[in-house]
Amino acid sequence: MQRVSIAVQGPFNGPLTYLHSHKLAPGLRCKVSLGSRTVIGLSVADAPDEALDAAKLKNVTEVLDTAPLLSEELLNIANWMGRYYLHEFSSPFFLALPKLLRSGKKAELKKTRWATLTLQGQHLDCAQLGGAAKQQALMQVMQKQQSATMRHLKSLGFDSAVVNALVKKQLLNVSDEANEESITPTGELFESELRLTEEQQTALSHIKLDAYAPCLLEGVTGSGKTEIYLQAIRQCLQQGKRALVLVPEIGLTPQTLARFQKRFQDDTVALHSGLTDPARHQAWLKAKLGQAAIVIGTRSSILTPIPNLGLIVVDEEHDASYKQQDTLRYHARDIALKRAHDLNIPIVLGSATPSLESLHNASMGRFAHLNLANRANGSSLPPIETIDMRKQQHQNGLSERLAHRIKSHLDDGNQIILFLNRRGYAPNWFCRSCGWIADCTFCDAHMTYHRAQRTNICHHCGHRETPVHKCPNCHETTLEAMGTGTERAEETISQLFPDTTIIRFDRDIASTRNKLEQQLARTESAGPAIIIGTQMLAKGHHFERVTLVGIWDIDGGLFSADLRARERMGQLLTQVAGRAGRGERKGEVVVQTWYPEHPVFEPLLKHDYRSFAIELLEDRKRTQLPPFGYLAVIRCDSAFANLAEQRLQEMAHYLLNTQKVRVLGPLPALLSRRAGKHRYMLLVQSQKRSHLHEVLTPLHRHYPRDAKQVSWHIDIDPSDL
Ligand code: ADP
Ligand code: ZN
Ligand code: ZN
Repeated sequence: MQRVSIAVQGPFNGPLTYLHSHKLAPGLRCKVSLGSRTVIGLSVADAPDEALDAAKLKNVTEVLDTAPLLSEELLNIANWMGRYYLHEFSSPFFLALPKLLRSGKKAELKKTRWATLTLQGQHLDCAQLGGAAKQQALMQVMQKQQSATMRHLKSLGFDSAVVNALVKKQLLNVSDEANEESITPTGELFESELRLTEEQQTALSHIKLDAYAPCLLEGVTGSGKTEIYLQAIRQCLQQGKRALVLVPEIGLTPQTLARFQKRFQDDTVALHSGLTDPARHQAWLKAKLGQAAIVIGTRSSILTPIPNLGLIVVDEEHDASYKQQDTLRYHARDIALKRAHDLNIPIVLGSATPSLESLHNASMGRFAHLNLANRANGSSLPPIETIDMRKQQHQNGLSERLAHRIKSHLDDGNQIILFLNRRGYAPNWFCRSCGWIADCTFCDAHMTYHRAQRTNICHHCGHRETPVHKCPNCHETTLEAMGTGTERAEETISQLFPDTTIIRFDRDIASTRNKLEQQLARTESAGPAIIIGTQMLAKGHHFERVTLVGIWDIDGGLFSADLRARERMGQLLTQVAGRAGRGERKGEVVVQTWYPEHPVFEPLLKHDYRSFAIELLEDRKRTQLPPFGYLAVIRCDSAFANLAEQRLQEMAHYLLNTQKVRVLGPLPALLSRRAGKHRYMLLVQSQKRSHLHEVLTPLHRHYPRDAKQVSWHIDIDPSDL
């Protein structure tokens, strides 16, 4: 018997050792017993533990795969991720597999109808088909591809009649099978490429396809970044290589996918959270087998196996959804950089509002910095003005001035976006007599009033309560909703503009991908309309007819203590403002604020995101925060405040003793109580990344995780505090 190393889900810092009749290639799923259970594990390349007593080792129960599911390249990345993010060993391996594979389902494609070229077909001179133009065209496609699914041929415009005609001539065969052969990308197009502007041309020419070459493509909203991705991808496909495109969770709408499918004859698959498990399973297998030339997906698709990968694109690289906020707290952009580096292939990070990390990397010469300063269709960036709320009459936070602007844009037949980053009806349920505010029983947070459901809901833990009508403090019946969320904004707007179509986008309305798509479709088919929404509106969608963007409220970002609150606020403002005037009609943006003199507005109002970012970078430099120093947060939760604080106190003591890092805390977390748990945090800072890992790795491995009383985790490169 041989010893084999198997990654098994659980709190283990390395693979477990089992016995099997022969060595196992890394990347195969196996059934193994763990305690009294049988679980699915994955064979890995780590050397098995030879010191363990063979008599105590168990046999692998069953090997489930005949070929590895993950390539060596991905196995290496997964291994690295576990060590880098200080998480249990197996998590990244299982993150790389879709759910049905994790639970043991066969790695088999569904049967589909395929057309394949016969021997006769291979040698046919297409000209012999004479007048049958459709048949000729199909044969040309088939001679390039050898085989294709009927679905794919349909998408190319060939119906089954053409295929059947060629079957009769014995040029094609049709069969139902689970064809697992890979398909070489061609780079053939359906529609011709746009003629690039000079700026775009320069940017594209800097994307070299033959080696690791990270580029930051910084281009204002509507500057044609996507067109550059498409053209770079085409070059990659023409070399017979494949491409991976990452987009933010909400950015992967049918609009985006359709843009790729309209352009390329090669197959594109999408991987996102809206897929059913079987659909995801199939899409993943197609990618893994090399049947898709382009994989477009959200965060976790960075770990999709793709043979002969030649290019990675990360669109909206600054987007917060790339960072996973629980369990394995990885950053997909950073994994993408690592993957491109390991594969020695180019990577393009695109954004109108790059993260401070990427701007810093570009200024240090680690990334090529490509700029697009103008919109591709020649439209100009909209002017942005602030409205001083201190000098305005307003109704539920909508100023008279903004209301006037809305009216005039509606009269011109245009659409309007009102941005308000707060869902629900009102952020407070409040007593007018004594100032009492309804708080969540389990969190250190106010309840948000949702009028449609006549319920107070906690946005941090989901706790619901029926609002009281008699004040528990002063016993008056003077309770009311205070402040404005999207629900109330909609109500206010519909009173002022009763005959206008109003379309809302927030997590209550667009709670699923389908509903989001419905709202987008409504927007596209509507005439003059007012679109009200949260940050969902900032991402990716191209609203052709929006000419006015009104930012109802953004002041929250000015004063939050969170590490990235300012950066996010600037990105949000710039991105939302960028939705105005993207079509032929000119746009404008108005920002309502109680603090018009705040210095952050000055560069942002001039669309000068770069200067805004440079100022923030200087702040970060002064405080030695990322990207000028390395940061980890240790968070600790407990039903008992003193236990959480004590645990972190002990850790702080140990960390300080190493003399390798700076430690701040324990401090109460920004939300100091959530779902009944008290929350504390410890900030660990270092000038050297290696120091951070040197001291945190032993802490991660050896500190007890008696999760019953105290639970804790480490967040490397945190994006929030
Ligand atoms: P971004 O990704 O930077 O927001 P897009 O690639 O979506 O920009 O382009 C914005 C709009 O400009 C789209 O409607 C696109 O079709 C158009 N566009 C892009 N490049 C060109 C070009 N070279 N010539 C004409 N129109 C272009
Ligand atoms: Zn009261
Ligand atoms: Zn709560």
